[in-house]
Formats: sequence, structure tokens, C-alpha cells
Amino acid sequence: MASPSSALHKSNGVQSGRIRVLKEGSRPFNQGGGPVVYWMFRDQRLKDNWALIHAVDQANKANVPVAVAFNLFDQFLGAKARQLGFMLRGLRQLHRDLQESLQIPIFLFQGEAAETIPNFLRECRASLLVTDFSPLREIRRCKEEICKRVSDSVSVHEVDAHNVVPIWVASEKLEYSARTIRGKINKLLPEYLIDFPPLQCPEREWPATNQFIDWDSLIADVLRKGAEVPEIEWCDPGENAAMEVLMGSKDGFLTKRLKSYSVDRNNPLKPRGLSGLSPYLHFGQISAQRCALEARSVQKLCPQAVDAFLEELIVRRELADNFCFYQPHYDSLQGAWEWARKTLMGHASDKREHIYTREQLEKAQTADLLWNASQLEMVHYGKMHGFMRMYWAKKILEWTNGPQEALEISIYLNDKYEIDGRDPNGYVGCMWSVCGVHDQGWQERPIFGKIRYMNHAGCKRKFDVDGYIAYVKRLVGETKKRKAEHLLAKTAKKLPS
Ligand SMILES: Cc1cc2nc3c(=O)[nH]c(=O)nc-3n(C[C@H](O)[C@H](O)[C@H](O)COP(=O)(O)OP(=O)(O)OC[C@H]3O[C@@H](n4cnc5c(N)ncnc54)[C@H](O)[C@@H]3O)c2cc1C
Repeated sequence: MASPSSALHKSNGVQSGRIRVLKEGSRPFNQGGGPVVYWMFRDQRLKDNWALIHAVDQANKANVPVAVAFNLFDQFLGAKARQLGFMLRGLRQLHRDLQESLQIPIFLFQGEAAETIPNFLRECRASLLVTDFSPLREIRRCKEEICKRVSDSVSVHEVDAHNVVPIWVASEKLEYSARTIRGKINKLLPEYLIDFPPLQCPEREWPATNQFIDWDSLIADVLRKGAEVPEIEWCDPGENAAMEVLMGSKDGFLTKRLKSYSVDRNNPLKPRGLSGLSPYLHFGQISAQRCALEARSVQKLCPQAVDAFLEELIVRRELADNFCFYQPHYDSLQGAWEWARKTLMGHASDKREHIYTREQLEKAQTADLLWNASQLEMVHYGKMHGFMRMYWAKKILEWTNGPQEALEISIYLNDKYEIDGRDPNGYVGCMWSVCGVHDQGWQERPIFGKIRYMNHAGCKRKFDVDGYIAYVKRLVGETKKRKAEHLLAKTAKKLPS
């Protein structure tokens, strides 16, 4: 489907390796062409966005206007109020910033992007569609459909604006583990981990820029429909908030918290020990490349912490994209390596001490207080600590009717409640825990076979388990209290005075 970017206008600062031509238009783009449209999906930001830089650059070279299109799917991987509220609030800020600083309009559509985007391209007679990159199958299918539906003359370019090293450049194949991809990525960092060029202003204005979007109603609508999983309060959405978390003067990760990353990041009692960037990275409200550049600039101060952070941010995160890009079965047992499938199936009918249904797990009704605490942290706080995620998913394997069911339940819960869910990192996290993806074989034992095992006693050796349970109890109590107060205030407002 994709070919190297031969027919592009030579781009200002966007390396050709970052761009794939998904469809070559029949008419060269600079000859009597229409505008450029950037269908934004995964990289929802103005700053440090290679796809936006490319779209504006191509528009200026062809002397045509440029717009951003965003499609709000009716249903996308089960997103609820928590995820959609965060996303739309971020987009509302982006809309304002794009209008004010660059006069680039946003057009918002609802429904299926495979229909809305080609329709929009037809209406505005666009010549070039630029999109950002996601390895998820829903989006790839959608792009294939868009390529089929747009007119022959339209070109479609995909820009990997999410990964530091574009996924198709880092490796041409499914990688086995961090060990096999690390060297490939590191070798390419001098070429790709570079400063962003300044974003040019569009030279031609879009004819009618006053596109009104009723963000308040849209947000109210998603909050109502997805009320089952309410929004979180501790994490402000948007690009500015993301930069504050990365390097704010009050509590920024690189400015205030970096030192403890190498010691505290595996301690669930110290959530501030982690960067807290995953919600922003997931929605593309911050660029991983920006995070990496800023981290490198303070490397001398805390070399160990920066190395550990870059390993997670670049190697592990991009390994997850590699898995989803090259493994069509990235969220099922079929996607596990042969050795893992064999060992898991060999132990699928082993006797379990407990078997819980999805509902029991969802309600945190197991005999393990530690597991229940992690589930409640996810349900109420919206972000389970990274260390607990591994234990959590491995226990689901132990307590359900086999690996496929364990995988389905863990992905279902992860995607429903995590603010950073529905992400390649989530699918790979569950596949790592349940199916040993990117891991190695360990000593064989019941149920797990050769898949790495984790247990309560191991957690006890690593951190204060009772302290974590008490911490989550407090967290849940506070969240419930705030929710009740909020509800009360809302009801009082509605009552006639
Ligand atoms: C079962 C399971 C489910 C998971 N689900 C998700 C998910 O839905 N979304 C998600 O973003 N991550 C997921 N992870 C990976 C990891 O736990 C989170 O990225 C991390 O806890 C997010 O917190 P942070 O940004 O504060 O982490 P930090 O340690 O500060 O990491 C910085 C960034 O590096 C990346 N990163 C960190 N750890 C990993 C990892 N193990 N694999 C890939 N990238 C990593 C993330 O983008 C993260 O935001 C999952 C892991 C497991 C085991």
C-alpha cells in the first residue's frame, strides 16, 4: 500500500523517512491543486507535530490553504467519558490555539472517518490528505478505505509523528524483544532525535475560517453517554498541561521529580516517582520526541534516571508500536510466539485455586486485597501504577479459564478504565503479562507454564503492600466524596430557589 516518498515536494525539515505515500494522486500536487487537509487522529497537538509541519509545508509550496480535520467516532474501542472528555477538552484548546496563532481552521466530523474524510476532501476539492500514524487495525483499515474512496487526483501521505524513529524505519520486521530493537533505534537517534523546525504560518488563508464547533455540547454529550466511567480530576488535559507535567516549575517531572525516577518508579506507593506522561503521550498532546530532547538536555544532572526514562519512552514504547504494526494478531493468543502458545495451551486446563468472572474482577471481588486495590486504583483514579499493571494482568491469567479469556478480560478492563488505555502499550502490556511477548521463557510451573510468574510474596519483598492497599483506600474514599459533593451541588443548582 505505501511507497517511499518520491513524489513529495522536498519538505522543509521533515525527513523523507518519516513520510509514507499511501496513495499517489494522478495529478502532480502542485499543478492547479486544491487545499491540503490534515486528518488528525493520534497526534492531537500544535507543537512538535511532524504531520502538521508537513501539511503546512506542502500547502505553502503549492500555494494553497491548509485545514485540520478531526473525526469523532461514534464508538472507538469502547472509550467512555474519562477518555473522551480528556480528549475533547484538549482539542478545544487546540482549536483555539490553531485559530489564534496560525489561522488554521479545524473541521470536526462525527461518525465514520472512512466516510466523513473523503466527503470533506470532495467538498473542499483537496489535493492532498496528510494523516498521522497509528498501528491499530481500526485506523489502518479506515485509511485503506479512505484511499479507495477519494478521487484519483488526491494524494495521501502518512507521517509518523508519534515515534522518535519512524516505525517503518526503525525496523522492517516484527522484533522479538527490547534487546533486538534497541540497537536499531539507538543507531538512528542521531538522525531522528533532532530539534523541530519552527512551524511555518500558512501563506494562503482558508476561505471561511469561522467554523463553529460547539465543544460544550459535544463534551456534555460524551460525558452523559459514557458516564459509567467518569472523568478524572487530577490530570488537566491539553498541550500546556502536558508541558507543565514534563517541565513545570512547580512539580514538573524533569524539573522536580527526575532524580527519584531510577529508585522510585517501581514503588506503587510513590506514583509521583513516574513521569505521569502516559495520558498526554497517548492522546498526542505532547510529543515523545520533545520529552526525549528535554530529558537529554538534563542528562548530566541525573544520568541514571534519564537513561531509564529514555528506555521506557523510546525503546519500550516504540517496541509496542512495532508489535502492533507487524503483528496483525496483536491482541490475541494467536499473536504470541509459538513457544508461549504451546506452554500456555499445555497448562490451560490446570486446576485454578480461584476462578473469577469478568464481573467479579471488574468489581474487585477477589480474595487478594492487593489485586483488588490495583483494580480500584484503575477504576477510580484512572491510572494504575505501572508496576501493579504487571501483577494485575498476570493474576487474571491465574484466575480465569485460560489465556485467551485472560487476555480478553485484561484488555477489556484496561481499555475501559485507564486514561491511557486503547494504546499499543496497553495491548503489548497485556500480551507481555499473559503471553510472554517480548519476554523469555522461565521455569515451568502450573497454569503459567513458562510464562513469567508474579506473586504476592514477591510484591511484599519489593514494596509496602499494606501501605499501598491503605493508600488506594484513601484515594477511592476521596474520589467518592468529591463525586458525591459534585452531585449534590448539581442537584442544588437545579432546584428552584
Ligand atoms: C498489563 C499492562 C497494561 C498496560 N497498559 C498501558 C496502557 O494502556 N497505556 C500505556 O501507555 N501504557 C500501558 N502500560 C505500560 C506502562 O505501565 C505505562 O506506560 C506506564 O505505567 C505509564 O505511566 P507513566 O507515563 O507515568 O510511566 P513512565 O515510567 O514515566 O514512562 C514514560 C513513558 O514511557 C512509556 N512506557 C513506560 N513503560 C512502558 C512499557 N512497559 N511499555 C511501553 N511503554 C512504556 C509510556 O509511554 C510512558 O508514558 C501497560 C503495562 C502493562 C504491564
